[in-house]
Amino acid sequence: MTYKAINPFDGKLIREFPNATDLEVERALENAHEFYMDAKHQPILEREKNLKKIADELRVNTDYYAKILTLNMGKLFEESQQEVIKTAEFAEYYAQNGDSLLKNQPYEIDNNYAYVEYDSIGAIMAVEPWNFPFMQVMRVFAPNYIIGNPTILKHASIVPEAAQAFEEALIKADLPIGAFKNLFISYDQVNRIIADPRVQGVALTGSERAGMTLAAEAGRNLKKSTMELGGTDVLIVLDDADLKLAIKNAISARLGNAGQACTSAKRFIVNQKVYNDFIEGISAEFAKRRIGDPLDLNTTLAPLSSKSAQEKLKKQVDDAISGGSKVIWGDNNKISGPGASFNPLIISGMTPDNPMYDQELFGPVAQVLSVKDDIEAIKIANYSNYGLGGAIYSTDVERAQSLARHIETGMVAINQVMTSHAEIPFGGVKKSGYGRELSDLGIKEFANAKTILYK
Ligand code: NDP
Repeated sequence: MTYKAINPFDGKLIREFPNATDLEVERALENAHEFYMDAKHQPILEREKNLKKIADELRVNTDYYAKILTLNMGKLFEESQQEVIKTAEFAEYYAQNGDSLLKNQPYEIDNNYAYVEYDSIGAIMAVEPWNFPFMQVMRVFAPNYIIGNPTILKHASIVPEAAQAFEEALIKADLPIGAFKNLFISYDQVNRIIADPRVQGVALTGSERAGMTLAAEAGRNLKKSTMELGGTDVLIVLDDADLKLAIKNAISARLGNAGQACTSAKRFIVNQKVYNDFIEGISAEFAKRRIGDPLDLNTTLAPLSSKSAQEKLKKQVDDAISGGSKVIWGDNNKISGPGASFNPLIISGMTPDNPMYDQELFGPVAQVLSVKDDIEAIKIANYSNYGLGGAIYSTDVERAQSLARHIETGMVAINQVMTSHAEIPFGGVKKSGYGRELSDLGIKEFANAKTILYK
């Protein structure tokens, strides 16, 4: 396994990092365990203060961190700035609410009293993806830090500078030793860490393939796990939708972060009465985007994260076309040169017999489909092995809410972009994984809900 930062815009190697030795892994586990033991004797308040300091560091030096994100995985500089700020917001949420989220829960039973207290369980092995290199890590680190669980991070091998910079921000904010450790490690080393008794949880955000492997590894060792995996989320446009809003948010779903977000809608299911207007609207917005260097503020569509992501998406699109889909807008990419840019495309006719049906197209490719009514929209939405999020557009919110009940996903957004907020639970069902991040549910995923019974 090699940890290499390669600029996705020009394909140039920025820096390569050596793998951690087994001795370094052992030291990380020892330090993590010591932190876990010490934190049991410290008030949460100290950790809350520390998290606030981390957030302050991210806010003060946003551009410094943002540039690293852009250079490692290619998102637009402005998007990187937004990510760093959102990462700070996640830290602030747990800094402000940690102790109240973890307050004891009382129970009453016959002639007895009881309460549940939420205790730490041990170190968490976090395996994180490249698409939001800071935000994804904070979602695991912040709640676990508050409760007293240390985090050991294996980040995606294409964002090693981002992984290091995240750790740097924590060190600058005087994080206690052992509370967090980034390690450049192999899959085997990850498995050995999961098996170690000092580790009690596994958190993954990534692909279904990685999910199946790591969930199995956690299961083999009887360790609790959370799996935040991919999806083929829908954006349903009903006949009474505010079309301007639906188009604006559809564009943001497919072109924001160059289309590489797990919850961004990938399948646009549009009522036949508004289908043509919708297609015209998104095509016009796609046409305005300018591909280029993501550090250049005039660029409005970032490259993909890597050459291999570009090649994979190109093959998926070609296979979809061979299987019967049609490009209805855009210039199907001719891949050449060292960069990972990708022309945006709108494709139609993705039917269940297409080999690419229900595959996650991770990039600026929109799939569109016209439907006759709400029932057909729901049927198509649920004809998927995934179940992460989804969005419904209608000026009748009650109608949208009643449809939302029928959608088999962990989250549904009405008249807005499906994205994460610190205050509300985030997670999926079916092959999009299990467990919840963020909010009160996120902080309790890796807690020992300990029952205390007394008279
Ligand atoms: P992966 O799932 O392969 O990578 C995510 C993380 O898991 C990385 O840190 C990766 O490490 C690690 N990983 C993968 N397999 C193992 C394993 N067996 N043991 C330990 N760690 C492992 O995603 P890719 O980057 O390959 O992207 C492929 C597809 O996954 C995308 O096209 C998209 O469909 C989906 N994806 C979904 C994301 C989401 O937000 N839900 C995020 C990223 C990807 P390493 O980089 O070293 O391989």
